Amino acid sequence: MLFSELGLSPELLQATAEADYVTPTPVQVAVIPAILQGLDVRARAQTGSGKTAAFALPMLQRLLGRPAANDRRVGGLVLVPTRELASQVGESFRAFSRYLPQPIKVLTVFGGVSINPQMMALRGGADIVVATPGRLLDLADHNALRLSAVNTLVLDEADRLLDEGFADELTRVLALLPDRRQNLLFSATFPPAVQSLAELLLREPVRIDIAETAETSPDIQQRAIAVDPERRTQLLRHLIEHHGWKRTLVFVATKYATEHIALKLQRLGFTAAALHGELSQGVRTGALADFKAERTQVLIATDVAARGIDVTELPAVVNFDLPRSTDDYLHRIGRTGRAGAHGVAVSFVSAATEAHFRLIEKRNRFRLQRERLPGFEPIATAPALAGPGAGGVKGKRKSKKDKFREAASRGTRGAGH
Ligand code: AMP
Repeated sequence: MLFSELGLSPELLQATAEADYVTPTPVQVAVIPAILQGLDVRARAQTGSGKTAAFALPMLQRLLGRPAANDRRVGGLVLVPTRELASQVGESFRAFSRYLPQPIKVLTVFGGVSINPQMMALRGGADIVVATPGRLLDLADHNALRLSAVNTLVLDEADRLLDEGFADELTRVLALLPDRRQNLLFSATFPPAVQSLAELLLREPVRIDIAETAETSPDIQQRAIAVDPERRTQLLRHLIEHHGWKRTLVFVATKYATEHIALKLQRLGFTAAALHGELSQGVRTGALADFKAERTQVLIATDVAARGIDVTELPAVVNFDLPRSTDDYLHRIGRTGRAGAHGVAVSFVSAATEAHFRLIEKRNRFRLQRERLPGFEPIATAPALAGPGAGGVKGKRKSKKDKFREAASRGTRGAGH
């Protein structure tokens, strides 16, 4: 199946091509034609499935030819659980709409920041509003927007919306919407509360179920922390202590690094062991057994040595060095969050490895914010990465998708939040 077979306009296809989307993902194949027809949708799909484009592209297409937003009216409403997701989804709408013949006004609103600029921005209405429910209601209470003309409602990550305690807010928002509208509900899981919400909201929906994979499992929380290389051991120590990780699997690039870091951690008072391919099978088996039995808190391994490690209830995987291959990233983070347990996968990213991490993100279709932890803020900058036009891996030109992302983030900054 090709994007061009989904019934999308040439301008939208141009934007997807620019984002390097060649073939649509399963959720896109299933829901884009349905949304274009005006049907309701109930999709089990998680981050990484391509769900944002699955609703954003057809929603934009349906806006074409409609009168522009005016008078505080909102056309399409996307509710999301967090401000980070609001920003990402808003960026996607802006990026996909850039070649459309009419300007599309996309606003992102969330709490924790001043409400006034958001009120000002809503004055002329908006074609699409991406919002967290609490702030949306504040704005409605201030009479800053009207939801009576909403023609499409999206609940994105509906399970997290309910987890974040937004159930009451959702009920209040629904009461402000017109009866006749299209409803799209996306959720990674369907516990009873989400099922009830789906039943309440959706009329004869098209149903789609995207099987969960280890890579996109919501039980693995992925984080990226910006840090200078020489501060990594201290950061690792801080994370282990701060989160109380009982077992941590740390990935490094070389056999030498496994031993070197194990030694440093031992000096800091941890029980730590190295695991690499040049150790005898007996030593490796022993190291793993100690780790599984919690006699060793931290295991520092190379990719090859770690293949096949399956430790249930492994709370944390740390990419001390980033994996060279983008596939290895998935193998590494797949070590945690097994058997339904919650896990966290942390990647240390420095100025010098930022471009490589972006490549890993792009290939594996996810995007993380770079966290800066107090006391570990990086000082170093890579000269090649300093300018806005930078961002290449050695000898690699900026890809279309990198340019697309830059354009998308410029769009966000210009939108006043
Ligand atoms: P989402 O599941 O919406 O969070 O999307 C995850 C990532 O996949 C985002 O970085 C998208 O840009 C990317 N993506 C979405 N659809 C496609 C596609 N058809 N081909 C390639 N990448 C995609």
